[in-house]
Amino acid sequence: MQLDTPGRALGMVERPMPIPEGRDLLIEIGACGVCRTDLHVVDGDIHGHLPIVPGHEIVGRVAALGPEAKGFALGGRIGVPWLGQTCGRCRYCRSDQENLCDDPVFTGFSRDGGFASHVVADARFCLPIPDAFDDAHAAPLLCAGLIGYRSLGMAGDGTEIGLYGFGAAAHIVAQVAIWQGRTVYAFTREGDEAGQKLARALGCAWAGASGKTPPTELDAAIIFAPVGALVPTALRAVRKGGRVVCAGIHMSDIPGFPYVDLWEERSIRSVANLTREDGAAFLDIAARIPVRTHVTVLPLGDANTALDRLRAGEVDGAIVLCP
Ligand SMILES: [Zn+2]
Ligand SMILES: [Zn+2]
Repeated sequence: MQLDTPGRALGMVERPMPIPEGRDLLIEIGACGVCRTDLHVVDGDIHGHLPIVPGHEIVGRVAALGPEAKGFALGGRIGVPWLGQTCGRCRYCRSDQENLCDDPVFTGFSRDGGFASHVVADARFCLPIPDAFDDAHAAPLLCAGLIGYRSLGMAGDGTEIGLYGFGAAAHIVAQVAIWQGRTVYAFTREGDEAGQKLARALGCAWAGASGKTPPTELDAAIIFAPVGALVPTALRAVRKGGRVVCAGIHMSDIPGFPYVDLWEERSIRSVANLTREDGAAFLDIAARIPVRTHVTVLPLGDANTALDRLRAGEVDGAIVLCP
């Protein structure tokens, strides 16, 4: 399912089967999650390579190996995340911050991704998938889970955590945070009863509309919704020294707000991409908890429907496409 022009629907195309070169693998896809970043690519909020096959929460099996590909065997189950390649030379790559690489390749953005029957990926950036998950339930772990986990780390060690936007990422992060012994407060769109119900069912202590004041001051808030107006809202909900973490790749503009809302050492930061270390650490924890992802499975040909439903906020948990 290929994007030719942002703002237009994806089109089904047939391409010759690629032959993997160098360190690349050819992967037969079992499932690929639909992430909000895919929506930003398709809607033209962020601009990458065109034409492009979106999708960066890929679970599949190795169908062919390039001559220098290592670490995976033919037929082995494998995950392909957003971080497709890094330069290995820039100051960030050399200081354990490969998520900030100056010359990165991103799956489904600068290299074709997983809204397809097959994908080619660099073996060095692929992840083994724990047996605890089937393909469809594993797929959302590869971005929603992984970036969510990185965001939770950025939120610090506080016990009272607010999650703004209770979609694919938050429903996974809530399970991790609760498993770590924290208390989670879920903020949804006004009137999103289904989202609030899912949050409570997963063990969140409180769920309500994003404009509501939570029953206690938060140590940190993580914003998953692409809504800049939530930044000052979340700042007002965190305690002195509290943190607001913006987890998305794109957000509408942040409106002006009084300095007093930031005063007393409150902070705002963003989270960008992932490192391979994040991937390994998160998948290990996810299998131990174990995280239960809520997925709606659609056939690959329904990718446009999946994107429409995500855009409209009509998804509980995550949507996954299966070829
Ligand atoms: Zn680099
Ligand atoms: Zn993503």
